Amino acid sequence: MESLDQLKQQLQSLDGRGYKAYKAVAGAWDAGRLVLHIDHVQGDPYADPSRFRAVVSPAEAGFPAWAVRTGPRRRGAADFVNRALYAELRAASGAAGSGKSGELRVLSPGQEVLDRTSVTVDEHGGVEARFRVGLPARGRRILGRAAARLVADAVEALEASLFFPALDAGALRRHVETVEDAVELRGQLRSRGLVAFVADGAALPRRSGIDDRPLEGPEVVPFRSPESLRVRLDAPNAGPVEGMGVPEGVTLVVGGGYHGKSTLLRAIERGIYEHVPGDGRERVVTVEEAVKIRAEDGRRVAGTDISNFIGRLPGGEDTSRFHTENASGSTSQAAAIVEALEVGATALLLDEDTSATNFMIRDARMQRLIAREHEPITPFIDRARQLNDDLGISTVIVVGGSGDYFDVADTVVAMREYVPADVTESAREVAATLPTKRSAEGGGWSPIRARRPEPGSIDPRRGKRSVSIKVRSLDRVAFGTGTVDLGAVEQIVEEAQTRAIANAVVWAREHILDGELTMGEAVERALDAIGEEGPGLVHPHRVGELAAFRRFELAAFLNRLRTLRTRSGAEAE
Ligand code: ADP
Ligand code: MG
Repeated sequence: MESLDQLKQQLQSLDGRGYKAYKAVAGAWDAGRLVLHIDHVQGDPYADPSRFRAVVSPAEAGFPAWAVRTGPRRRGAADFVNRALYAELRAASGAAGSGKSGELRVLSPGQEVLDRTSVTVDEHGGVEARFRVGLPARGRRILGRAAARLVADAVEALEASLFFPALDAGALRRHVETVEDAVELRGQLRSRGLVAFVADGAALPRRSGIDDRPLEGPEVVPFRSPESLRVRLDAPNAGPVEGMGVPEGVTLVVGGGYHGKSTLLRAIERGIYEHVPGDGRERVVTVEEAVKIRAEDGRRVAGTDISNFIGRLPGGEDTSRFHTENASGSTSQAAAIVEALEVGATALLLDEDTSATNFMIRDARMQRLIAREHEPITPFIDRARQLNDDLGISTVIVVGGSGDYFDVADTVVAMREYVPADVTESAREVAATLPTKRSAEGGGWSPIRARRPEPGSIDPRRGKRSVSIKVRSLDRVAFGTGTVDLGAVEQIVEEAQTRAIANAVVWAREHILDGELTMGEAVERALDAIGEEGPGLVHPHRVGELAAFRRFELAAFLNRLRTLRTRSGAEAE
């Protein structure tokens, strides 16, 4: 293997040549304590910057056993290193010519700690980092000396972040212990009969709707559990942690407008992930199979069996194989629930702010005015109990506007100036003294008809490209000739997840889908494989911009593909 100095000399000697001459530096270079791989050289200075990778052996990286002992700890360590490398590369990055010349970057993590392809730490403590380098040019002429300097800067950034002695050991320890604690807390939910846990002292509000960092300052009211819902869980590092247990069953979050209901639900939604220390939600954990459900009018639906919620549509359509290019609020919300159940959701999270009113409730007066035979919708209020009693599906519902739900709730939490109170008893009394006079609708829950996605209907081709995927943002992907809108898939938190999901769909078409597997079987197989290999499995190249995701979000992407076709098969739950 040639040395880093030889790489620098070669780059300098390329000075003034046409850009394509950069291709000669692809390969592995011995940079002393690390090996620098140039996996792919960009075609021109305006293209995606070149893909570089650094590999550090366990002995050189020097991570102590406590940092790499368990999967969660390694994920925490990798996330910590990723953040350090991000800061170093950002400081060294700068414009140095045309297009992306001079750019140095690695994936930028958000508030969650995810398994990502950007930085990985293996069980022996070996470290790999994948990052981008915009090889510099003026026009299409190579700037060789600038390239040599840029590579030297990159190596310096790697030296300052991939090696244990260079890191803040205390902060790293806090990071890995926080991640491990959250994983362990989540692991205690099921045996305690809980769907979520919100620790006392947690800080739930965010800076803004577009800034997920914690709101700070004296106005932040720390979370405090009501006495009756307080449970104590055990974190291996932090010790006993007290907070509010959200029990399995039907839980309502009620309270006046602007009193913190949605903020609590959003924290619970995100409790499926671990958070960085200082996030405020480090000890807010939710069962892994909890899925946020919302209305999404305009979405497409490909054969989903929504007959438990919607029957007898005006056109006489069969809602057990419901197709539409343009769902309404209520049909989209019904589809979202069924699609979550198809792939194994055990808890549904709903917020009145993002729900279709006619899907949530139909009160006694409306039942009187509009005869049942003219209303296709069985509102969620008539299904929430059944979902729990018959199928073991819990729900957490934010409802400020309809006390009818008291009849079906197991637990009622009232938010008052951001502080929760257990008002279950009072809600029961109200329900007893003020009967709603509505009659239950819809009859029993029927098993959902399973769907089998047709692999041929997943078409990522565009022009001459056999696979064209462009991730525009967290919630928008150009896939083949179409666009997939994930704006209503609220538990995707990083663009790298969206990229991984879009690629996983193509990968699943090649490796998993056979037209016979049901949606549930297909995503389960895909996630089993990805769980073993990591999110990099789904991409043909060694890219550093992929992050782990759940089967629910993979299914959500498939379900929103405008071309997806499904066959209905035997019934399943
Ligand atoms: P609701 O859903 O009850 O109408 P939200 O959850 O949307 O209320 O919260 C209203 C506002 O209060 C938001 O701006 C939110 O950031 C803020 N907020 C929520 N919880 C807290 C808290 N614990 N401390 C301070 N501000 C909070
Ligand atoms: Mg709200």
